[in-house]
Amino acid sequence: MRDEKKEICRIFSEASHFVVTSHQNIDGDGLGSALALYFLLRRMGKRARVVYDGRVPYFYRFLPGSAQVLSFEEFSVEKEPFEVLVVVDCSNPARVGRVEGFLKEARYVVNIDHHPDNAFFGHANFVVPGSPASALLVYELARELHIPPDADIATSILTGIVTDTGGFQFAELNQNLFAVVGELVASGASLSTIMYHVFRFRRLEALKLLSRALHHLTFDPVCGCASMHLTQEDFRECGAQEEDAEGVVDYGLYIPEARVSVFFKEIAPNTYKVSLRSRDDFDVLPVAHHFGGGGHQRAAGFKITGPFPSVYREVLDFLRTTVLGSSK
Ligand code: AMP
Ligand code: MN
Ligand code: MN
Repeated sequence: MRDEKKEICRIFSEASHFVVTSHQNIDGDGLGSALALYFLLRRMGKRARVVYDGRVPYFYRFLPGSAQVLSFEEFSVEKEPFEVLVVVDCSNPARVGRVEGFLKEARYVVNIDHHPDNAFFGHANFVVPGSPASALLVYELARELHIPPDADIATSILTGIVTDTGGFQFAELNQNLFAVVGELVASGASLSTIMYHVFRFRRLEALKLLSRALHHLTFDPVCGCASMHLTQEDFRECGAQEEDAEGVVDYGLYIPEARVSVFFKEIAPNTYKVSLRSRDDFDVLPVAHHFGGGGHQRAAGFKITGPFPSVYREVLDFLRTTVLGSSK
């Protein structure tokens, strides 16, 4: 079997112009991994750009290189040719928004990801579903390339790890991960700065929005489902943006008996982005797949349209039967 890591190193060494991208609704793993790749490629003397179809949330702007991220429009104006498109932390091409069109233009598409439902859409696919974060795969690539992380690379990678492990709460900080974190800190990453920005650096509008979501929190003790929602009106009245709802879904699992947390975010009239989180043995990925989305076993999402009462009932009914069906 071909060694995908080695194949990616070969592509990285041979080509000279790169575009790096990640999924819409970007998170710390998508952005951290993309920026780490950007710094790595520049260390190799390559021309690289990070292009993202969306706006980088304000709480990730502490990341080195985040100001250099180009929007789809900015890159389109520049029209710089590229040979390689690197897609990171993204299970399928549709999730990169309008950047999806670049897949046809690129001579090579490199796919680096840890989602179990990855579509293997690249010419080279470094996909490890068991990995706690895509950023850890970028760390492995840096090792393979014999490039020791500098402070920028270390900060980017550690942000990816911190985000996707929920600050080392969702993945056990075992000896291996501890050793990687130790090396990244020794290379100049500040764990406390990263933790602060990823979990605590939130504007007043975001906290007002959180209080609304918590006000709507309900819990069904029979199936262990916690649910919250935010309407367009909630966003408007709090003066909040979509990014201000980051992390809201996690609160449902604060309830000791909760097995699943579901959060409905109205992103356009009667259009909901639904986030799912779970713990113990309950797998939310089939639920997300049922509604046309994807993700991981413990964190997944999808979009659904319709009036809130019917959307809510449909999702909760499906969750209830699936959660209860999975009970031992
Ligand atoms: P979120 O709830 O948006 O934080 O997403 C949780 C996980 O599910 C992440 O790994 C996302 O990449 C994934 N995810 C969310 N929405 C979708 C979707 N519509 N299609 C595929 N994966 C998704
Ligand atoms: Mn992600
Ligand atoms: Mn990830």
